[in-house]
Amino acid sequence: MQRRVAVLGATGSIGASALDVIARHPDRLHATVLAAGRNVDALLALCERHRPRHAVVAHAGAYPALRDGLRGRGLATQAHCGDEALEALVAGEDCDTVVAAIVGAAGLPSTLAAARAGKRLLLANKESLVLAGELLMRAAREAGATVVPIDSEHNAIFQCLPDAQARAGLRRILLTASGGPFRGRRRDELGAVTPEQAIAHPKWSMGPKISVDSATLMNKGLEVIEAHHLFGVAGERIEVLVHPQSLVHSLVEFVDGSTLAQLGLPDMRTALAVGFAWPERIASGVAGLDLLAHGRLDFEPPDLDAFPCLRLAFAALAEGGTAPAVLNAANEAAVSAFLQRRIGFLAIPALVEDALAALPSTPATSLAALRDADARARRRVEQAVATHP
Ligand code: NAD
Ligand code: MG
Repeated sequence: MQRRVAVLGATGSIGASALDVIARHPDRLHATVLAAGRNVDALLALCERHRPRHAVVAHAGAYPALRDGLRGRGLATQAHCGDEALEALVAGEDCDTVVAAIVGAAGLPSTLAAARAGKRLLLANKESLVLAGELLMRAAREAGATVVPIDSEHNAIFQCLPDAQARAGLRRILLTASGGPFRGRRRDELGAVTPEQAIAHPKWSMGPKISVDSATLMNKGLEVIEAHHLFGVAGERIEVLVHPQSLVHSLVEFVDGSTLAQLGLPDMRTALAVGFAWPERIASGVAGLDLLAHGRLDFEPPDLDAFPCLRLAFAALAEGGTAPAVLNAANEAAVSAFLQRRIGFLAIPALVEDALAALPSTPATSLAALRDADARARRRVEQAVATHP
């Protein structure tokens, strides 16, 4: 069977890795839908290369350039724009597999549409799980969607915990973290760091938002919540270990004292190949791991004083309800302000903490309640940034 794949966030870092794996397997994978935010030139180049049936831009202003660019290149790809068009394509007949790699809560509607339509869902958009994990996982279960996490840690856990029987004997999850570019620094050494320093990740090449999240350790905090939803494990049974080599992608410990880990070079094409072919294995373009060349594997505890975002995420998970939605939205707004040089690095955890304190958690009974909490948290952070001295 040839998988017909929708790549959402096609012009991003995960999108590029997904299309690289797809292009290695023309017999079994074809990109039929490509979607991006507003970068029309990059999307047109991808259409020329991968010949999808449909191309989608999020922003209406970018639509004429997409439509005319496709025509000018003589491509049969149809142009679309907006959330509704994207949701319809994701749920429709032209794809059976969806790579959800839009960044941020903006990815929730299309991710949810893929789950509801019972598609194979390669889920990179972790913010949608943090914001609406219960709803999303329930929709996937009810529609029979297979969810394969495309986050190196969760993909590792997925590989170590293939079925319900294995999950029944799980004692805890050990989530590894590289520690980011500022590992080893004290809090008082972080006040003046710049966006350029924050996005220069030592081991992974990723988009700007997740790179800043890695520098604050919020990325690991979001991943704790992500693991909770994907594997049904309470926060108390998830431990974070800093592992600077980024070769052990995560571990699971069973009640019998056995610990399993998944190792590999830090390259997301491995996780994507697992997602496309599972339970089979296909080539991803990633070389095997030469342990003798790497020599050692180190582990250390995270520094919650220098990187309070991880602590805030554990607290939001324990609180439940709308707290994770507030955490995620406040973080997105704060990271965006940091990248625009409107606030300093240490203001990111401070603004998230303030939003969590000011917007007490309520039960997250509906998508509307979660969206409302998300909007209120963004507004609060944006107001604080605007009145910042
Ligand atoms: P990126 O910034 O490189 O790419 C983001 C993509 O989303 C782009 O194609 C952009 O056009 C698109 N986009 C942005 N806003 C949009 C909108 N409103 N509507 C439609 N498309 C929109 O980001 P990335 O590093 O590829 O990360 C994507 C997602 O995958 C994030 O949720 C991230 O946390 C997750 N993830 C990434 C990595 C990685 O190695 N890069 C690893 C694990 C998880
Ligand atoms: Mg990760």
